Amino acid sequence: MSTMTQTPQDTKITYRRYNDGDSKFKRSQERLFKASWTYKCPTYIQQTPPCQGSCPAGEDIRSWLNITRGIEKPPVGADGKPTMSWQEYAWRRLTDCNPFPAIMGRVCPAPCQTGCNRNVVEGYVGINSVEQFLGNHAIEKGFAFEKPAVETGKKIAVIGGGVAGVSVAYQLRKKGHHITIFEAYKKLGGMLTFGLPAYRTPRDIVDAEIKRVIDMGGIEVRCNTFVGKDVTMEQLRKDFDAVFIGIGAQAGNKLDIPGADAPNVTDGVTFLRAFNEHKIDCAGKHIIVIGGGDTAMDCAAVARRLGAECDASTKPENQTKVIVAVREGSSHIAKPLLRQSSEVVIAYRRHVQEMPATKHEIDACLDEGVEFQPCVAPVSVIKDASGKATALRVIKVDWVNKKMMPQEGTEYDIPADLIVCAVGQHIDWLGMDGFKNPKNVASIDKNLQATGQPGLFVGGDAINPNLLTTAIGHARIAAEGIDDYVMGREVEKRPKVDKKLFDLIENLEKFGAKFEEVPEGYTRASCDNKNLVHNFDDRADRAVIEAKDLFLGHFANTPRVERAGHAINADNVLGNMEERLIALTDAQAQAEAKRCMSCGMCFECDNCVIYCPQGAVSRVAKKDQRTGRYVQTDYTKCIGCDICMDVCPTGYIQMGLGGEGN
Ligand SMILES: Cc1cc2nc3c(=O)[nH]c(=O)nc-3n(C[C@H](O)[C@H](O)[C@H](O)COP(=O)(O)OP(=O)(O)OC[C@H]3O[C@@H](n4cnc5c(N)ncnc54)[C@H](O)[C@@H]3O)c2cc1C
Ligand code: SF4
Ligand code: SF4
Repeated sequence: MSTMTQTPQDTKITYRRYNDGDSKFKRSQERLFKASWTYKCPTYIQQTPPCQGSCPAGEDIRSWLNITRGIEKPPVGADGKPTMSWQEYAWRRLTDCNPFPAIMGRVCPAPCQTGCNRNVVEGYVGINSVEQFLGNHAIEKGFAFEKPAVETGKKIAVIGGGVAGVSVAYQLRKKGHHITIFEAYKKLGGMLTFGLPAYRTPRDIVDAEIKRVIDMGGIEVRCNTFVGKDVTMEQLRKDFDAVFIGIGAQAGNKLDIPGADAPNVTDGVTFLRAFNEHKIDCAGKHIIVIGGGDTAMDCAAVARRLGAECDASTKPENQTKVIVAVREGSSHIAKPLLRQSSEVVIAYRRHVQEMPATKHEIDACLDEGVEFQPCVAPVSVIKDASGKATALRVIKVDWVNKKMMPQEGTEYDIPADLIVCAVGQHIDWLGMDGFKNPKNVASIDKNLQATGQPGLFVGGDAINPNLLTTAIGHARIAAEGIDDYVMGREVEKRPKVDKKLFDLIENLEKFGAKFEEVPEGYTRASCDNKNLVHNFDDRADRAVIEAKDLFLGHFANTPRVERAGHAINADNVLGNMEERLIALTDAQAQAEAKRCMSCGMCFECDNCVIYCPQGAVSRVAKKDQRTGRYVQTDYTKCIGCDICMDVCPTGYIQMGLGGEGN
């Protein structure tokens, strides 16, 4: 006999499937009937997926991925054939929100992917690469935007033809308004034209996506027109029904240390603009870029591509013939030049992991031979007798409780032929001073209407320098506010989840479903009227579905289909203006889209139909099936066992009140 005393842990029941002596088999149905009978029954709950929740543009990502993978099919014409290809249908769903997929698929840092629920399985869905694929396909096939169905006769002035301005013009044109874009530069595009280098945003792609918007008609473009100088804001307020300000943040922040007035010290925006306008064709032997954002990475990568001129001391093996577009007289010509590599240093006050730049831009710089010197702060610019900068003096720093602590006695000099300060941009309010607040940005309300200025809306970097996708999101919200304003409606309150949400009812109606008024005494959630969506509730405007609400066991580990890239490295970067990313093929895009778990929306897996022990769940008649209306429950058979909810991979089924009598 054991002499050991029992501890509470020994006596505590942990988990036992059977009791001692259990030997008789009970049919599952029998057990369930007795164990889990409840008045609860399945309801179909649409929620916003976190990819969309994290996309500042607000794209209906789940929808266009579901179209790409073949779950949602394009509409069928009278001849029974699809009216368009799946690529076009997906592209149309995507561009409902974002008219620039080919651009965003290349340069968006893709916060949607960071938010994607698939990260808890084996890694995010490559949303950005499918976006690029759809954007490229649309350009290749020459897809056009539809013209508006009505003309309202309302006139809107858009100041600034960057991504914010062109996006707002697109959204407003769809609503039938007439737009005039006033752009200070000779061309539309903003930073896409004179900020980001062409190997990241190829100019033919930028031009094609902008042209497609202008080709909608009813959008007048006045380039070389600076509002505040060539035309006043007062005039625009008089001549137009509403005004949108999308002037961006054009001015680079200057370096504020002794010696920074040297002629070979500049800011990042000025350096990149000069490069994009072909005003410089070489960078110099020693380049220092100060900063850790996207602009800093672009400056460093451009400097590595431009290189330095060869002098008599350059050994032939170090010389490379590169083709650079140089300015001769008034035109640009491509000219072969002898070059040697530049030594490019990025000096940043924090650690590399803390740099705000997109990870793949940082990695690209490292691959291309840029040297990173982290945790240093600039102290002064060292000049020669002629006043030219020859070095940047920096000091090593520590970070204590988020405070930067310079380490005394650790100063050292980094040699420099050119110093580029890329530490952010600010807004140039020249001629529009009345609209800025003490923080030098526009004060706005939730609808992006300038505070106390009815009819004046703001978006993009003019609110706060950020991302292209943010500017596109602002444009959608501002356009809705402008539309309400000019049409004499109360400017609508924005929902909690302010995205371009999938509208199931609207989508069903587009495909011929006719929804009558809900009969008195019935709600949309409990009715046997075939015209209503069966037990459906749309919570997308207030709920983002989390990974814990999905049945993750349904999803087998599937590696991401990665985009291939042109291998650009330290040895071949000089003079290399090739794009880094190669778009997915049709088959690759579909394979990647299949990894999407369709969070918060049915993706027609049939699990609920298969596993319901009562046979209470069945498919809707094929002719009535559309996204979100694929299955139905017979509530006279349902016993509320929860199984359909448990096996629903997407979290679309939740148990709600129901049962007998509905
Ligand atoms: C070097 C660099 C790299 C970047 N890289 C990325 C990236 O990889 N991914 C990303 O998402 N974002 C990136 N960004 C940020 C992105 O470019 C901006 O967030 C975006 O361009 C903002 O769009 P916008 O339309 O508000 O402004 P802008 O693109 O700056 O356009 C504003 C337009 O208004 C015009 N304008 C200004 N004042 C007037 C006036 N008074 N009258 C008439 N016209 C006027 C300008 O000429 C310009 O065309 C980068 C920014 C820089 C500078
Ligand atoms: S715009 Fe950016 S955040 Fe939005 S879907 Fe595209 S890659 Fe994702
Ligand atoms: S799995 Fe699909 S729906 Fe879910 S967050 Fe990722 S991309 Fe969006």
